Parts: sequence; C-alpha cells; structure tokens
Amino acid sequence: MAEREARTPEPITRLIEAFNRLPGIGPKSAQRLAYYVLRAPAAEAEGLAAALRDVKTRIQFCQTCLNITEGERCSYCSDPRRDQTVVCVVEEPLDILAIERTASFRGLYHVLHGVLNPMDGIGPDEIRIRELVERLKDGTVTEIIMATNQSLEGEATAMYIQRLVGPAGVRVTRLARGLPSGADLEYTDDLTLARALEGRQEI
Ligand SMILES: [Zn+2]
Repeated sequence: MAEREARTPEPITRLIEAFNRLPGIGPKSAQRLAYYVLRAPAAEAEGLAAALRDVKTRIQFCQTCLNITEGERCSYCSDPRRDQTVVCVVEEPLDILAIERTASFRGLYHVLHGVLNPMDGIGPDEIRIRELVERLKDGTVTEIIMATNQSLEGEATAMYIQRLVGPAGVRVTRLARGLPSGADLEYTDDLTLARALEGRQEI
C-alpha cells in the first residue's frame, strides 16, 4: 500500500487524539469511537458537537456551592426546604448525585473540585477550600460532613479542612469507615453510603 493511502486523514487523527485524552479511553477505543462518528448520520455527529459546546458555554459553577448549574445557583442551594446548617463537602459534582441517591441527606453541598495531592502539586489554593471557609463565616452552617473519598488524598483533605475550620467552632464530621478503601463515592452502593452518612463521626 502506498504511504499516501495508508496515512489517516488529519480530521480523523485529530478526533482520535481528542477521544484518547478522555479518561478511561485508550488508543483502540479512541479509534473505534472516531470511526463510529465517521459512519454516523450527520445529525448525530452534529448533536454530539453541540452537546460538547453547550456543556462549556451553558454550564457554570453554582455561586454558593460550586456544583454545576445552568443558573447562578444550583437546585439544592435554591431549595429553601434543604437544611441550611449542614454542608456535605465532596470532591466532584458527581459525588452529589451519589449522596442524593441515598435519600438520607437533606442539607447543602460544597464541591472542592479535587483533593489535596502534594505529589501532583495540588495544594489548598488549587481546590475550592477558600470558598468553603468564606461560606462558614456568617455562622449559619454548624456542621460540615467531609465526604471526600476514603483514599489517602481524601483523608488528608478532610484532616486539613478540620484543622482549618474546627477551631472556629464548626462541627466537622467524617463519613463512617466501611466504604471500600480508595473506592470512589460514585461507585459505592446506596445502602453502604447511607450507613456511612448516618454513622458519621467527629474528626
Ligand atoms: Zn449550589
């Protein structure tokens, strides 16, 4: 086969590379996805492109809790029936969905958008800790539940925040142990997570 024919056209290469950058997508899967898009009806490919654009232009972070939202405040922060005195601190917006599925938490959230990880250069200024501290200043919040994952980084982040806000008189609790160590909240089954919430303890 001549070299010219063997070469993949540039737009396809670009799409393969883009897919390959997504978490959990290796080179083989990236290739399969790209060729799928190539064969798909134009409307389907346009739909995918529009969804990608919209997620970057229409979705923003909630001004209060930094959850993802289409308006200024997310649905939890704008719901007056939620308990304003308890804030559950999570790593990512997806963790909120995991906790909501348990139907055993009626407070508000705070999304850190990461955890402390000195090895990767992620310090307190790289995640949304400052916003949490600001939020606690008016005294409405009396308890924060550290629901970071039970990984080394998740534990270290919980301890860091406890030392930061504990002295100010806010009760800081941690999900009960018993979650699979290192497992992400989003993969934990609802009952286990509900029990971990109920059995939370002061740190
Ligand atoms: Zn919010």
